[in-house]
Amino acid sequence: MSKAKYKRVIIKLSGAALAGEQEYGIDPQFINSIAQEIKQVVTTEVEVAIVVGGGNIFRGVAGSAKGMDRGTADYMGMLATVMNSLALQDALEKLQLETRVQTAIAMRQIAEPYIRRRAIRHLEKGRIVIFAAGTGNPFFSTDTTAALRAAEINADAILMAKNVDGVYDSDPVENPNAVKFKKLSYIDVLNRGLGVMDSTAVSLCMDNKIPLVVFGIEQIGNIKKVVLGEEIGTFVR
Ligand code: UDP
Repeated sequence: MSKAKYKRVIIKLSGAALAGEQEYGIDPQFINSIAQEIKQVVTTEVEVAIVVGGGNIFRGVAGSAKGMDRGTADYMGMLATVMNSLALQDALEKLQLETRVQTAIAMRQIAEPYIRRRAIRHLEKGRIVIFAAGTGNPFFSTDTTAALRAAEINADAILMAKNVDGVYDSDPVENPNAVKFKKLSYIDVLNRGLGVMDSTAVSLCMDNKIPLVVFGIEQIGNIKKVVLGEEIGTFVR
């Protein structure tokens, strides 16, 4: 069995990653393939916690741009992350992986409330913990949730699975000459305004010295490669 570079990681999946080819909602087939990948990761004996976004269903900013109260729209966004988390839990458990969903907003008929020490205990027992409902606060993002939970549970790194294969100096879709960074410092990310994470999340990672690996999820096997220490994507610290 190959040995993991990290002892404990947080995998951040954006909502878009669960939508697959679709523009909206959840693509069960795509979630199943992500679950298979995560199963591969677990074989390296790394402890895995997951933060899922909600952008495939609802984003607070989009709602408020259309005239909704921002706080209300953000709560809807957080609820969207709960749906995604349950879908991912379902797919993981079909592969006989033990999981727990913990929500930052209490909904005890559906999932456990977020309790830091309990989350750590689950991880120590080899369970995958999915953190749902973001931080529980409007005006934040699930990137910030990943940074916050990583600091709380003492994760060794955040693995940002994205639709692009790393961080570029400009948008690679629009600019064919965009250059990919192999390594970056957090302060560079902030100064250059690179769209890795929102600035709240970046600051939290920087202040708490949490390394970040940004890589593409489209290629199968990438999450495991990152966990084993292969240098793909962009490393930020
Ligand atoms: N959200 C929030 N507080 C949090 C996390 C998320 O209010 O701590 C809301 C916010 O409206 C956000 C939505 O949930 O737009 C979905 O999360 P995000 O946009 O981060 O998802 P992703 O872009 O990763 O799919």
